[in-house]
Amino acid sequence: SLNLRKQVDDCKPYIAGETEASVLKRYGLNKVVKLGSNENPFGPYKHAKKAMQESLEVVNRYPEDDYVELTATIAKINNLDVTNIALGSGAGNVIETVARLLLDEGDEVLIAKPTYRLYREVSILMGATIREIPVKSDFTYDLEAMEEDITDKTKLIWLCNPNNPTGVINDRKELESFIDRVGDDVWIVLDEAYADFIAGGQRPEIVELLKNKKLIVIRTFSKFYGMAGVRVGYLMAQAAVISAFDTITEPFCVNRTGLFAAKATLLADQEQADRIKNLILDERARMESILNEMGFTVIPSSSNFIFAKLPNDLYSATICEQLMAKGVIIRECDAWGYPAYVRITIGKKEENDFLLNKLADVIEN
Ligand code: PMP
Repeated sequence: SLNLRKQVDDCKPYIAGETEASVLKRYGLNKVVKLGSNENPFGPYKHAKKAMQESLEVVNRYPEDDYVELTATIAKINNLDVTNIALGSGAGNVIETVARLLLDEGDEVLIAKPTYRLYREVSILMGATIREIPVKSDFTYDLEAMEEDITDKTKLIWLCNPNNPTGVINDRKELESFIDRVGDDVWIVLDEAYADFIAGGQRPEIVELLKNKKLIVIRTFSKFYGMAGVRVGYLMAQAAVISAFDTITEPFCVNRTGLFAAKATLLADQEQADRIKNLILDERARMESILNEMGFTVIPSSSNFIFAKLPNDLYSATICEQLMAKGVIIRECDAWGYPAYVRITIGKKEENDFLLNKLADVIEN
């Protein structure tokens, strides 16, 4: 045998979305539209692109000063201190490091079903046991059931708001009071990868909770800021947690180009963020209404993707396969336990139209 750690056997591979290149080649197509990985089709801001070019002049040096500058910028924007912020190579890397920070063999971990799959894998790898708590019929978290499932072994609860793959948010007040109650005893990780898409006023207020609860909030530049390819994410927590995180994380795991881009993005004027957000949300509304007309049951989204039930008991994996052959990548949800649902990322108008067109073909046949 290879003699790997025994937990590795229990982990399932992370199935990333199909890429344009692989689909182009497999089906001999000349055009592929990728709406499978919740990326932002508009890409990084122009300030960020310029900053990335400038970074190339200094990539011979380790990026220590850039860590300091980006954490200071994030702290300022969030009304926190620099000691409350640490960086990682995307939220995925932060999630993995947080699992290493908190979890021991035999610990219990609570996650929603369905939710982002990385939580399960990183927790299992640390030897923890998973309990999955099904979401309610409106796809919000069953926070009461989660609280009831807490035992003296429960170490950590992974929350994702908006949740992936559903795009659904939880009531702000309910989430805040859950963290307030539970966060004295059990660690809570609030993954806010998509929180910038939440409509005003519905986003939980975390600054006060971060000061004295067992709370870690995770964010990323991959989604809202269109920088999935440069890999920058961060966490916010009490200073002692951040210090421990920095002790165990790989030194300089965020590259200098990504750090330059992230800082430029946060310093860019709000107008760009608002414009791109509105483009995406307008397209989401348009897609929701067309999908409804096509017979889908669309779950109201607070993110840049749509979770929808196919009409006529169609099977999502088959539909997604057929769409791929026509040059559109979306996500089947059987792997999450929802064989009748698909997850569609909101693209540019022309990309969405391309999808709708192919989808109509596939559904009719
Ligand atoms: N959290 C959630 C909920 C996600 O959907 C993703 C990406 N699919 C991530 C974290 C990881 O994002 P990244 O590593 O690109 O920052």
